[in-house]
Amino acid sequence: MVVKLKKQKSVEQFTKEDVDAAEKNLPNYYSVSQLNQSNRCRRQRYFRYVCGLKILPNFNLIGGSAVHSGAEHTLRKKQNHKSTSLDTQLDAATDKFKKAWSGQAHVIEETKGQCVDVIAALTEVWYKEIQPDRVPIFKKTIKKINLQRVDSKRTIKFTGIEQEFWLPLPGLGKYILGFIDFFDSMGWVIDLKTTGKDKNENELRSHQLSTYVMAAKRLGWPKVRRIALDVVIKPQKKKPKRFTHVLSKKTPTKTELIHTIDSFRGMEALDDAGQFPPQYSNDCSWCGYKAVCDKVGSVSYHV
Ligand code: SF4
Repeated sequence: MVVKLKKQKSVEQFTKEDVDAAEKNLPNYYSVSQLNQSNRCRRQRYFRYVCGLKILPNFNLIGGSAVHSGAEHTLRKKQNHKSTSLDTQLDAATDKFKKAWSGQAHVIEETKGQCVDVIAALTEVWYKEIQPDRVPIFKKTIKKINLQRVDSKRTIKFTGIEQEFWLPLPGLGKYILGFIDFFDSMGWVIDLKTTGKDKNENELRSHQLSTYVMAAKRLGWPKVRRIALDVVIKPQKKKPKRFTHVLSKKTPTKTELIHTIDSFRGMEALDDAGQFPPQYSNDCSWCGYKAVCDKVGSVSYHV
C-alpha cells in the first residue's frame, strides 16, 4: 500500500486527491484474474493495484471458496483411503466460511445463516452428484467411468489437488501464479466452479485453461488430455443444479497458448506506459469501484 492514509478508507471514502496521490505499486507476478480484470477495465486495475484499493469479497467469492475447501477435504481423504461423509465435508466447508465471515461479514447482504444454507446446498450437490464421477478413480480396477472418462483397467490417481503453480513468462522476468483444482494421472484437469448461471463455451475457452496446460507441462505432469468443468449453480430460490462440461478434444491449441502469453505481454506494456483509461460498459453498474470512479470522472491516469 503506497498511499499514506492514517486509516484504511473504504472505496466510498476514497477521494480524487487520494487517487491522484497514488504511486505505482503493481504486483511483481501476474495471474489470470489480473489479466481478466485488465481486459475488462484498465481503470479497475489502477484502483486495485496502483491505489491499493481492495474490494471486500462478496458471498460468491467466500461461499465458492468454502465449497472448494469441502471438496478438497473429501478428495484428499479419498486419496489417502480414509473414510469420508457428507457431514465431514460440510464441516470443512462451513469452517472455512466462518473464518472468512469473521473478517467480512459487514459487506455481505445475506445473513450468516442464509450463507451457511447455500453453502450446504451447493456442497450436497457436489458430494452426491459430482463426487461419484471423481471417486471411482481411487478404485484399483476401473471398467468404465462416467462422462466417457476412460475405459481402462489402470488405476487413476490425483496428481494434484489444489496445486499452486508459478509459470515463468518468456521474456518478461515475471511469473503467472495460479492454482489447479484437481489434476489426475490420466491427464484430466478438473475445475470446480460455483456460479449463479451456467457457463457458455466462450467462457470456458479462457486464458485460465491455457495456463493450466502450460502449468501441467512445467510441473512434469502428464499431457493434458481433457478439461472438465464441474459447475454447481446457485439459482435464485431453486435447488442448486450441477453441470459438467467436458472439453473433449478441445484443449487449448498452440495458437491459443501463444495468444495467452501475448495477452500478458500486452498488459505489461500498458502498465509500463501508465495507461489506465476507464472502460465504461454495462459492467459499471456492478463494479465495486463505481463510487470512486464516479468521483474522479473520465480523467485519464498516467503513472
Ligand atoms: S465504474 Fe466502469 S469505468 Fe469505472 S472502474 Fe468500474 S468498470 Fe471501469
